[in-house]
Amino acid sequence: MAIATVNPYTNEVLKTFQESTPKSVEQALETAAAEYRQWRTTSYPERAAVLHRVAVILRRRRSELAKLITIEMGKLVAESAAEIDLSADIFDYYADHGEGFLADERVVTKRGEAFLRHSPIGVVLGVEPWNFPFYQVARFAAPNVMVGNVVLVKHASNVPQCAIAIEEIFREAGAPTGLYTNLLISGSRASALVADERIQGAALTGSEAAGSSFAAAAGKNMKKSVLELGGSDPFIVLEDADIDQAVEWAFVGRMNNTGQCCVAAKRLIVVEPVADEFIRKFVARMSNLKVGNPLDPSTQLGPVSSEAAAVELEGQVRRAVEAGAKVLLGGKRIAGKGAFLEATVLTDVPPGSPISHEEMFGPVAVIYRVPDENAAIRLANDSPFGLGGSVFTSDVERGKRVADRIDTGMVFINHPTWTAPELPFGGVKRSGYGRELSSLGIEEFVNKKLIRVSSLSDPF
Ligand code: NAP
Repeated sequence: MAIATVNPYTNEVLKTFQESTPKSVEQALETAAAEYRQWRTTSYPERAAVLHRVAVILRRRRSELAKLITIEMGKLVAESAAEIDLSADIFDYYADHGEGFLADERVVTKRGEAFLRHSPIGVVLGVEPWNFPFYQVARFAAPNVMVGNVVLVKHASNVPQCAIAIEEIFREAGAPTGLYTNLLISGSRASALVADERIQGAALTGSEAAGSSFAAAAGKNMKKSVLELGGSDPFIVLEDADIDQAVEWAFVGRMNNTGQCCVAAKRLIVVEPVADEFIRKFVARMSNLKVGNPLDPSTQLGPVSSEAAAVELEGQVRRAVEAGAKVLLGGKRIAGKGAFLEATVLTDVPPGSPISHEEMFGPVAVIYRVPDENAAIRLANDSPFGLGGSVFTSDVERGKRVADRIDTGMVFINHPTWTAPELPFGGVKRSGYGRELSSLGIEEFVNKKLIRVSSLSDPF
């Protein structure tokens, strides 16, 4: 994929970029490795100061950066601004809590003293997706910088200006050269880079295909990796739920970021007694959205990230219909320029069919009717993915019991799956492994080094 800004609202190419040459990538690796030797000796307050300054700059440049996100990948501009706020919060969070998370941990042992020291491991490579161009990078970079690692980032090819802006913000925040380096390279070059002996860890957020190629390279070269991949989150509505609230949250959960969230409510699973009411109200909520320029604050439905993504999504809707699905709303491209697809509601997708196991990354809601709670859980777990999920019920204890039986990394009760700096984020099955955010996220690329003090007279 060429590295370029293509505005999905118009499909116009606004700016193209040359890929980094092998020589400049080699230079970036050398600089990063050299900086690691310095950065690992800095104190936590020095690292925190850089992260806090990044947060300050993000907030100061909020509206300009929000526009950049919207122009490069089509997110509604208010959502782009909220992404900048969340990203700044993540930088502050690790600046404030990193030292505490990384404090020595005493190990109780029979003799002498033993503790775990959380040491950095070196240069860590992050491959990031376009759907949250700042937030995804914040999740990766903030904890690693706090640990004392240095980072190389390969961002998605369709958000090069966001990628470059983040590197500039680190520089403006006083980060030394080599602490944060943006690489303008293709995905296959990123996977090949994992083998380099200067790289000690590798994290990828993106599709299953990219994840599997990246993880194969990490496995072959015995590098620690974290994968945050796709999802097809179940959103279960039980008969005792507040249906109006469930409909509103289903709308938000499915349509936020024009449906392009890994944790979007991609499968709405509704029990029979409330299915008719839910479907009627949900279709009404999805109807008559104001389509337009995502930079216009009154727009309710913007384009998806690219023309290719819109074509792919329309193809998935077509395959769902061929498999027996009914289209209750939308289903077609919107005439005119831009990567638009109508807000779409499907029912009767046959459970277990190939299309039911695919991730639909856009404004397409699929509603399943099931007889009862047990059937809802069975269907929720009938997915190759295991990222997030939701349960709507007026009985919170019942919600917790259902959550316990859902095979995903996160389950939210009475809320769509969402994110905050302090909440661990990640999945199981084909959604990947490892966690980002919270105290867990900072422990992924750390050497939990045992330091043991014995007395000379201790037995062997
Ligand atoms: P993608 O095509 O996999 O791209 C993600 C990143 O991987 C991009 O930087 C891409 O670079 C790179 N890449 C592509 N092929 C690669 C390879 N062989 N080796 C190494 N890197 C490679 O995914 P996307 O379509 O941009 O993003 C959407 C996907 O990400 C969805 O499946 C979504 O659910 C998932 N996602 C998951 C999470 C999570 O936390 N679990 C969060 C957000 C998104 P190029 O752009 O240059 O191809």
